[in-house]
Amino acid sequence: MPNTESLNVAVVGTGYVGLGTAVMLAYLGHHVTGIDIDERKIEMLRRGELPIYEPGLADLLHASESRLTWTSDYAAAIPEADVIIVCVGTPPLPNGHPNLRYIAEAARSVAQNLNGKFQVIVNKSTVPVGTGDWVTRILEDNAPDYHANRYAVVSNPEFLREGTALHDSLYPDRIVLGSASQEGIERLRQLYRRLLEQDFTPPEGVPRPAGLARPQFVTTSLNSAEMIKYAANAFLALKISFANEIAGLCERVDADIEEVVHGIGHDQRIGHRFLVAGAGWGGSCFAKDTAALISTGAEYDYDMPILQAAVDVNRHQRQLVVSKLQRHLHRLQGKRVAVLGLAFKPNTDDLRDAPAHDCITRLMELGAQVVVHDPVAMEQARREWSHLSYQEASSAYDAVRGADAVILMTEWQEYHDLDWEQAVASMRRRLVIDTRNVLRQLPSDTVLEQIGRRRVQETH
Ligand code: NAD
Repeated sequence: MPNTESLNVAVVGTGYVGLGTAVMLAYLGHHVTGIDIDERKIEMLRRGELPIYEPGLADLLHASESRLTWTSDYAAAIPEADVIIVCVGTPPLPNGHPNLRYIAEAARSVAQNLNGKFQVIVNKSTVPVGTGDWVTRILEDNAPDYHANRYAVVSNPEFLREGTALHDSLYPDRIVLGSASQEGIERLRQLYRRLLEQDFTPPEGVPRPAGLARPQFVTTSLNSAEMIKYAANAFLALKISFANEIAGLCERVDADIEEVVHGIGHDQRIGHRFLVAGAGWGGSCFAKDTAALISTGAEYDYDMPILQAAVDVNRHQRQLVVSKLQRHLHRLQGKRVAVLGLAFKPNTDDLRDAPAHDCITRLMELGAQVVVHDPVAMEQARREWSHLSYQEASSAYDAVRGADAVILMTEWQEYHDLDWEQAVASMRRRLVIDTRNVLRQLPSDTVLEQIGRRRVQETH
């Protein structure tokens, strides 16, 4: 084990997880090299620019600059590394199983550059049970002189949320490590010591929450750690789908889902978090991870009806937004609809599996004229959603002007704080569909539709 507390770390993959991890570990005092095969990202990072939007990350990057290096060359980072953390993507294949191609490629490149001393290869990407053992075999097959090399493979699933990645990385509820190697676990205890003991000065803008308990250090087998990540995400997706299912019944029996979840969540066995009704879950993880778990079940001829129902409820929930619009506007052909928010949640530009995509696609199929706004995701959408021909607005007010309806898709604070009096006054028809249940009193002649609530305001 290296004598100094500061370790040399290589982080493979500089996406949402890899970047947050690299910058956080450098802030804690480790020397970190971020490796990515995407040279555009590496060039940007070398210039001190971030390829993604994540609040606070730019400041922490600059504060930790002296301990951060960026490269596309494995040979420049792996031989020196005490710990190698793999954070490459695991996107879904059409059959729901994750595509493990990037994991395999990264493992081969790591293997070819191992130094023969004890190194720990950590997998932070979300991968099906058994992947850690498979990666070990790839290392065995590809390391130049296997017998001279010593290494441990550890699963260390990541639980950060985009939009609050720094907070989640610095103040995690738990650190989960799965491995058969005690030596590997001990090196990671050293890597995370400052986090575990909360022995660091919180960076500006990311304060330590009052009364924070130290993170739990959870050690398990490799397989259990891999399962923990999927089971955690599946449970959170389930909680949202449950709230949405109850919301549908609330609308029918004239109860109010906001009052209901408030009442349920105070039960400490249940809790408020993720018990929220809305346009359905989205983002890079929930759809892919629920699909992966169901697909693993299918491999073992094991049905997962609860999880399947959560997925079905979510699909239905996304259709609900357009049905609500049709209830008021009837034919959508030629109607101008403003969509506020593209990303699946505020404070991120990640568009993967965003409910706004399905909503805009359906609106366009029905002949609506769609105009969109998002505070940070417009450029990303230009790249990733070039198949959708909506109009872009330079501000929320511009989007709303002349619209027959507004759909609030993402609960950005900016939309919450709009001067709604002014905004609805500029509309052709005053109809607001708030898919996040965040708007309160709108001008009295506005129809405000929310999810799982009796009509909040009626047309006069
Ligand atoms: P991402 O797509 O943002 O980033 C992946 C990065 O890996 C890309 O920059 C890509 O260029 C790079 N890459 C691919 N192959 C490579 C290779 N062979 N060598 C070096 N770099 C390579 O993905 P992400 O959102 O950061 O997710 C990464 C993993 O973490 C996934 O398994 C995901 O499920 C999991 N995860 C994501 C989140 C999240 O909120 N995004 C949270 C927890 C866990």
